[in-house]
Amino acid sequence: GLVLHLGHAGAPCPAGEGSWEDAASHVDDEWEDIEESQQPAHLNPPDDRNYLTVVDTGGVHFCNVQYCNCPGSEDSHLQLTMASLFLFPAMTKAPRTAFTFQVLDNFIRDNVECGTSAMNYYSKLQRVTSSVFPHLVPNRYRELLRVSRMWRLLKLLKWQGFHQQSPDPWAGELVLFCPACPQPGINVPDQDIALSDWRFARTFVMDSNLKAEHMLPKNAAEEVWLMDGNGFMVTSAPYKEYLTGTVNRIEKSDCNNHRAVNQANAQRNKLESTGIGGCACARHGCFVPHAMVDFQKGEHRQVNMDYALVHAMHHGLDPQQPVITFYDINCQYSKNL
Ligand SMILES: [Zn+2]
Ligand SMILES: [Zn+2]
Ligand SMILES: [Zn+2]
Repeated sequence: GLVLHLGHAGAPCPAGEGSWEDAASHVDDEWEDIEESQQPAHLNPPDDRNYLTVVDTGGVHFCNVQYCNCPGSEDSHLQLTMASLFLFPAMTKAPRTAFTFQVLDNFIRDNVECGTSAMNYYSKLQRVTSSVFPHLVPNRYRELLRVSRMWRLLKLLKWQGFHQQSPDPWAGELVLFCPACPQPGINVPDQDIALSDWRFARTFVMDSNLKAEHMLPKNAAEEVWLMDGNGFMVTSAPYKEYLTGTVNRIEKSDCNNHRAVNQANAQRNKLESTGIGGCACARHGCFVPHAMVDFQKGEHRQVNMDYALVHAMHHGLDPQQPVITFYDINCQYSKNL
C-alpha cells in the first residue's frame, strides 16, 4: 500500500529503515491508547510500528510511514510536522497517532462556532470512518483533547509573533485588544497630547454570565496550564490569593430594579466556578485581555468584578485618560467605588 517516506522529498531514505527497539520502551499507555481488540481488519491499527493512525476530517486512517534514518536526522515527531505532510503527532516520542492540521483547525472552528465538544466531534469522525461500526474505530478522544489544546496555544504564539528565542508571553499577550479604542503609544501619540480630553476617554462595559459553569477537574494536581493569564482570563494564582485575602462585604441593595446583587445562590459543590465576568470596550465590544474573572460562590461578588475592572484599567491606559463604566448594576456597584 501507500508508504510515506520522510526527509527525502518522498523518496526512501538511503540510510534504510530505522529500528523501533528503543521506541517500544517509550510506549506509554497513560498517554496513548493502544488497545487489543477483535475489530474488523480495516478498523484495526496494524500491529506494526511503522503504521501511524492518522486522524483527519475524512476519518481515521492507518498509514505506513518510513522516517528518515540518516545520521543527524530529526526526531520522528519533528519529521512528521516538518515533512509538509501537515501532521501533528499525539506524542513526542515514537508517535503512533497523528492529527492532520486540517482536522485540528476544523475541530477548533466547530468548537468555537457550533459549541461542539471534543467528545461529539470525535464521535462524528468515527461515524465518518465507519457508519456501520463507529464504535469500533480506534478511540483517540483523549489525544484529541490534549493535542487540540497544544494546537490552539501554538497558533496563538505564532499569530502574536512568539518563537523559540523570544521571551515567554506576559499577561494577556496572546490575545488582541480593540484596535480603535485610544491607547497611548499604540494608536495615539503618548507625548504632547492632552490625554485627559474626553476624546481619549475609555469606555468599559462590565457584565457577567452566571451560567458559564466550570466543573472541578478530576485530578486538580495533574492539570497543566498552558497559557495561564496569557489570554483573556486573569492569572489564576494571584487572583486566588486576592480572593482569599479580601472580605466580600455584602451590601444591601436599595435598587428595586436589580435584586440580583444580593441573590446568593445555593452553594454548588461540584463546580470550580459558577460564572464568569469581566470588562469589554463599550463602543466596539472587544474584551480586555487579562481582565476576565470567574465566580466561585454562585453569587455576583463585588470583589471579583473589582479585580476585573482594576486589570482592565491597567491595559494600555494612561492615568490621565478618563474612564467611563457601564454596568447593569452600576447604581449599586458604583456607590463606594
Ligand atoms: Zn534519510
Ligand atoms: Zn474599542
Ligand atoms: Zn438600580
